[in-house]
Amino acid sequence: MFETLSDRLTSVFSSLRGKGRLSEEDIDKTAREIRLALLEADVALPVVRAFIAKVKERARGEEVSKALNPAQQVIKIVNEELVEILGGETREIRHAKNAPTVIMLAGLQGSGKTTLAGKIVKWLADQRNTPLLVACDLQRPNAVTQLQVVGQRASVPVFAPQPGNGVGDPVEVARQSVEHARLNNNNFVIIDTAGRLGVDAEMMQQAADIRDAVQPDEILFVVDAMIGQDAVNTAQAFLDGVGYDAVALTKLDGDARGGAALSIRHITGRPIMFASTGEKLEDFDLFHPDRMASRILDMGDVLTLIEQAQRTFEQDEVEEMAGALASDTDFTLDDFLKQMQMVRRMGPISNLLGMMPGMGQMRDQINDVDDKDLDRITAIIRSMTPGERLNPKLINGSRRLRIANGSGVQVSDVNGLVTRFFEAQKMLKQMKNGGMPGMPGMPGM
Ligand code: GDP
Repeated sequence: MFETLSDRLTSVFSSLRGKGRLSEEDIDKTAREIRLALLEADVALPVVRAFIAKVKERARGEEVSKALNPAQQVIKIVNEELVEILGGETREIRHAKNAPTVIMLAGLQGSGKTTLAGKIVKWLADQRNTPLLVACDLQRPNAVTQLQVVGQRASVPVFAPQPGNGVGDPVEVARQSVEHARLNNNNFVIIDTAGRLGVDAEMMQQAADIRDAVQPDEILFVVDAMIGQDAVNTAQAFLDGVGYDAVALTKLDGDARGGAALSIRHITGRPIMFASTGEKLEDFDLFHPDRMASRILDMGDVLTLIEQAQRTFEQDEVEEMAGALASDTDFTLDDFLKQMQMVRRMGPISNLLGMMPGMGQMRDQINDVDDKDLDRITAIIRSMTPGERLNPKLINGSRRLRIANGSGVQVSDVNGLVTRFFEAQKMLKQMKNGGMPGMPGMPGM
């Protein structure tokens, strides 16, 4: 899902890594690259234009935070704009004041309506609702049987035309189904309607007639994400022909590009409510724009981490620390202690490390990092004299024993810390040459 776009954006961001600040030229170049990435992902042109204009405006703007380096700032902006373009808030189902809540599905044949109907009823039933599935696709041979099979798999009753009882008239079937639901305490009615292979006036009319007969609480336009740009045209045709409240995207599992998902909200003004990611009834959820954006950016929880850093640290603290790291004088044990205390304020260390991208495979080592280790390090550094902290090379054998006694640890612990500190100092020197993220790091860990 969205692999193409993810890969492209990741490489755009990595080219910003190590930059101290973004020049006008950097912003233009980055915007051009993001634009290409979106076009390649088959995102509709007006959406691309709006997106790029927004990102450029914000990248130039004053809101730039000193707690983040340029690459992080751009990622943050792109992430927020992606969330926006995907619809912002998660769109929940609107419930009818008086049950049943009626949901009508409309879309082309093969878009995945019947499958989606099964997924919705299963999802609703799992949340202790009592949905009723309604077969109003009386055109396609086997459509009713297919819906009955789906209903059986989801353990949900199916309302289908009875012989001699309005057979062949989907509008009548829909009307009767709502009555049936009322009598049988079904609090949701999901109506599957007939689709055609292409946009067709007769199909639109039938859907509009069903809509007028039952006045659904939600009309969902169901669309196959794999058809890319075509989804946008079809979406517009259904908007004009039937109208709808929200969109259900199907077959996202087969959509490497993501053009439909990223375009449809902007073009139609209707939010995406559901995303379907496979043929099984379980492959389904409400569509969460924020989670989808994180997935596209392949960022792990790094955004949460960035926000947490911003929330935790005062701007001047960040600047002071960044200054200490960037200055030509050596990084001292005092800096080390201060930095460690800053990082600790963000929460348990294993949680923090777990949020870094790529740390998933290191889960075991992460769990070994204990907050008590940090307490011990703090105690050791506090037992040193100011001179020793400034110049740890002074710390000879007898001083080590004194420090160990003063902080209640073994001499080997003091040795370990001093060794790790020198390694960190060396690493920092190397990083200064290659550029350094603006966030406090954790040398020696
Ligand atoms: P309808 O004509 O709109 O009712 O479409 P169907 O529900 O019959 O679906 C058409 C085909 O798409 C079927 O083969 C489904 O198994 C398949 N399908 C539906 N939803 C998904 C999905 O989310 N992912 C994948 N991979 N296939 C799907």
